[in-house]
Amino acid sequence: EPILVAIDGPAGSGKSSVSRAAAERLEFGILDTGAAYRALAWTARRIGLDLDDTAAMETLLDAWTYRITMRGAQHVTVSVTGGLSAAVPQLTAPTDITAEIRDHAISGQVSRVSKLPVVRERLNRMFRNAVANSGLPGVVIEGRDITTVVAPDAPVRILLTATPEVRAARRAGELPGLTPEHVLADLQARDAKDALVVDFMNPAPGVTLVDTSNLNFEQSVQAVVDIVRA
Ligand code: C5P
Repeated sequence: EPILVAIDGPAGSGKSSVSRAAAERLEFGILDTGAAYRALAWTARRIGLDLDDTAAMETLLDAWTYRITMRGAQHVTVSVTGGLSAAVPQLTAPTDITAEIRDHAISGQVSRVSKLPVVRERLNRMFRNAVANSGLPGVVIEGRDITTVVAPDAPVRILLTATPEVRAARRAGELPGLTPEHVLADLQARDAKDALVVDFMNPAPGVTLVDTSNLNFEQSVQAVVDIVRA
């Protein structure tokens, strides 16, 4: 079984990039769980399913193959088998959607699928299997409910936070053309929806809080690595 480093945090906390860099430095794999929720939402939209419909999402999950690379450059591919693929025959072959899942349209819709308990149970099972079968010495797994639900027994559990203003400023830097005010409104709307399902703003007992508001990228990565090595 790989050593697990569980990292949670809100949108724009630097979680994805910090987790990835820390994993590289530790020579661990990285599992970005948000990518799976995004990929599921992308696939459902592509097929034309109702993202709020639990039964439709279960049918999709039965027909869905999701792959993500846990070492090196991130690649996310999906494919769909059976009746569902009639609507979109191209999806019977593995389709690389690494870039598409970052679209603004997906960020705005993903909470509709992530709020469904059945979806969370199925994806959590998929995450645990992927880690157990990874063959890696360790895996950094990041998301919203990793420290509390997916891997509550992980030897290292971290909650990364930053003030809403800092998170919006960082994200605005990645999204040219959008003002920090616009980005802040989007982040807060998404956090509000996601927080109805899991609490990723307050550390659960035993979880180490790392506030990156006053840390630069390198300092944030080092803070995580130091906690793992301590
Ligand atoms: O981490 P990222 O912002 O890419 O996550 C996208 C969305 O996936 C979140 O807004 C949330 O709705 C969902 N998510 C989740 N649980 C996780 C990871 C992500 O509900 N562990």
